[in-house]
Amino acid sequence: MLAILIFIIGLALGSFLSVVFTRLEIEGVGSKKPRKRSKKVAQEIMFGRSRCDYCKKQVAWYDNIPLISYLLLRGKCRNCGKPISEYHPVLELTSGLMLLASFLFFGLTWQFAVAGLFGLFMLLIFAYDLRHQIIPNVVVVPAIVLALVVLLYQFVLFSDNSSMQLTLWSADPESYLLGGGIIGLFFLVLSAISGGRWLGGGDIKLGALIGLILGWPYALVAIILSYLIGTFYAVVLLASRRADMKSSIAFGPAMVAGYFIAVFYGDVIVHWYQGLVL
Ligand SMILES: [Zn+2]
Repeated sequence: MLAILIFIIGLALGSFLSVVFTRLEIEGVGSKKPRKRSKKVAQEIMFGRSRCDYCKKQVAWYDNIPLISYLLLRGKCRNCGKPISEYHPVLELTSGLMLLASFLFFGLTWQFAVAGLFGLFMLLIFAYDLRHQIIPNVVVVPAIVLALVVLLYQFVLFSDNSSMQLTLWSADPESYLLGGGIIGLFFLVLSAISGGRWLGGGDIKLGALIGLILGWPYALVAIILSYLIGTFYAVVLLASRRADMKSSIAFGPAMVAGYFIAVFYGDVIVHWYQGLVL
């Protein structure tokens, strides 16, 4: 019962993500001509009702039920009949599944809340970078600040010898500062030597964020996995001629995929590797 409820909450949170996704697009984040950001837009993102991407008509509550409305409307706006972006149902479903997986993995704990919260940030980054090849600062910077707040709180808990834990792997907050620091710095150096061609500023921040959430050595697992996934994805794109050697392929989605594998299988992979070396 609880699992079903959590899945439904995940769907609703995914619906909110898809609203933020659309608002970022309207605001022009990642496009050549970004619109001037006004206070009103920020307010709209937080409290505004959903609108159709095309006719701008407010979406009625009964047409705004995650997944179900999309299926009932067959993916079209009730007012103008234009297609609703497939990013909406995909974000809703993946958010539901992500929250459910976090619950099954961590149980009803604070770690579940932390994994769920950052999972939402990661899904939004995945979708936006895939679509627009940019990791919006308005998403990744607040996530970094939140990760630091979590670590600060964990630091208090850790020195308190409390049985409560917020961080996903080790209870020692130092390994997370180490992870965020090493990966952020490593990416910064890579970006500097390549003049920003291998990695953009968003990738550096996302790398640091993954380090802060997963800690050392799990963040390293996530980054190695993201290189494997990114390379594989690039090869598939090249082979299917959907990209050529000159295309730039966003690295963020591969990093997010590596992050999620490391959240759920980090321990398995680290143990497997230790068994291989020792
Ligand atoms: Zn419409």
